Amino acid sequence: MFQMIKDFLSSLLLREMLKGMALTMKYMFSPGITIMYPMEKTPMSPRFRGLHALRRYANGEERCIACKLCEAVCPAMAITIESEQRADGSRRTTRYDIDLTKCIFCGFCEESCPVDSIVETHIHEYHGEKRGDLYFTKEMLLAVGDRYETDIAANRQADAAYR
Ligand code: SF4
Ligand code: SF4
Repeated sequence: MFQMIKDFLSSLLLREMLKGMALTMKYMFSPGITIMYPMEKTPMSPRFRGLHALRRYANGEERCIACKLCEAVCPAMAITIESEQRADGSRRTTRYDIDLTKCIFCGFCEESCPVDSIVETHIHEYHGEKRGDLYFTKEMLLAVGDRYETDIAANRQADAAYR
């Protein structure tokens, strides 16, 4: 009986509606959490897994030693590598392709690489307009690495203590 009276008075005094209005007012004067993308961007973790890149050493030599660990570990079988031995005895890739339409951006390739060659960058605003546009060859991946090496190195450094 007491509960019924309480519910009746609560309903009569529009208690639920007033609670809702109070919540609305609270957030009306709080700082907004919606951002105006793409003009505004949210912070990104150094571990963000975006577009892939192949890195070089400071002397311009490719880091990749064609060990194929990344190819073996890739669950989507998105990586294709072919390699050969150079005249100096070192092993290097002759082909390193990633089919980004297969890639699930798990980061396993990056984790498995012993020489920090294949990495995932912060680049996430890219697209393809026709079939094959998202099939990245070794030259394309090296070009991404060359262009963004400063950012890549800074992010690796920021995350180094946790690896
Ligand atoms: S991020 Fe994952 S799915 Fe994509 S290429 Fe690397 S290992 Fe394969
Ligand atoms: S990118 Fe790294 S893991 Fe993949 S083949 Fe080259 S050295 Fe090995």
